[in-house]
Amino acid sequence: MSQRLEPSPGVLYLVGTPIGNLGDFSPRARTLLKKVSVIACEDTRHSGLLLKKLDINTKLVSFHKNNQKSRIPTLIKYLEREESLALISDAGLPGISDPGESLVNATLSIGHEVICIPGPCAATTALITSGLPCQRFCFEGFLPSTGKDRKLRLQEIVNETRTTVIYESPHRLLKLLEELSKLCDINRPLKVSRELTKLHEQQIGPNIKSVHEYFLKNKPLGEFTLVLGGAKKRSLIQDEKNLLSEMNSLLEEGLTNSAAAREVAQKTGLSRRKLYELIHKGNSKMQNILNTSE
Ligand code: SAM
Repeated sequence: MSQRLEPSPGVLYLVGTPIGNLGDFSPRARTLLKKVSVIACEDTRHSGLLLKKLDINTKLVSFHKNNQKSRIPTLIKYLEREESLALISDAGLPGISDPGESLVNATLSIGHEVICIPGPCAATTALITSGLPCQRFCFEGFLPSTGKDRKLRLQEIVNETRTTVIYESPHRLLKLLEELSKLCDINRPLKVSRELTKLHEQQIGPNIKSVHEYFLKNKPLGEFTLVLGGAKKRSLIQDEKNLLSEMNSLLEEGLTNSAAAREVAQKTGLSRRKLYELIHKGNSKMQNILNTSE
């Protein structure tokens, strides 16, 4: 099969780089990175060392989450001058939990082409190794580190019926495992991939309880990707019955309807208005209130 000449002028190439094992650098990626006019990368020192090992001496320009807005016009100029541009991230596929999307959109908006030279990605590598259902899945990336946004994202993950992939840093892994232990059935399947493609690669599982116990005894070191099994599908009627019974307990404790709805809304991330409606109507007649649009 004949192949197109690479790199082509005015094209943005998204190039996958290894997530640990240098042997995963594809020959196509290496040849292309040698030939492009410029390589945009998150950290010029980090990528400079990697590229030097592969004998690639192409000019590097930094492009990271803190300078992406101001850097895009400079990078776009290369494409407008019909030069070729490659984007790499610190590891894996650019655009997955690192800047990339904004440059892709800027490139497409001026009518230039974007081509991906595929490579490893921690999310899909962990997913297909986990043994958990992977025909349909969710990718959550990094969760917000604290606050209401984190609570809401966790609640969505707790209720998600598809397998969910999460990135987490070693110093926050135990906190996430504690939260999952509190919010989910502790027997829910969980596999944690540690140091994928590297010397000390490891898969820890099979469920939240065992993974949590393991990391209470073994300090989390290295890079981690979590693959959480989906929640069991529950009927909406059952969900409403449970919520109503929780709010009725709060009413018995002396809370007003509004306060009970607010408390359960904060805990579950559900609409306070709908929960309030559920107290009013639900006690006399069970209806699918949560399922109706706002
Ligand atoms: N762009 C990358 C990709 O395609 O996978 C992801 C970049 S994200 C900034 C870095 C996170 O990916 C790490 O904190 C970790 O959660 C996960 N990760 C990267 N390399 C990994 C590895 N070798 N083993 C396990 N997880 C890894």
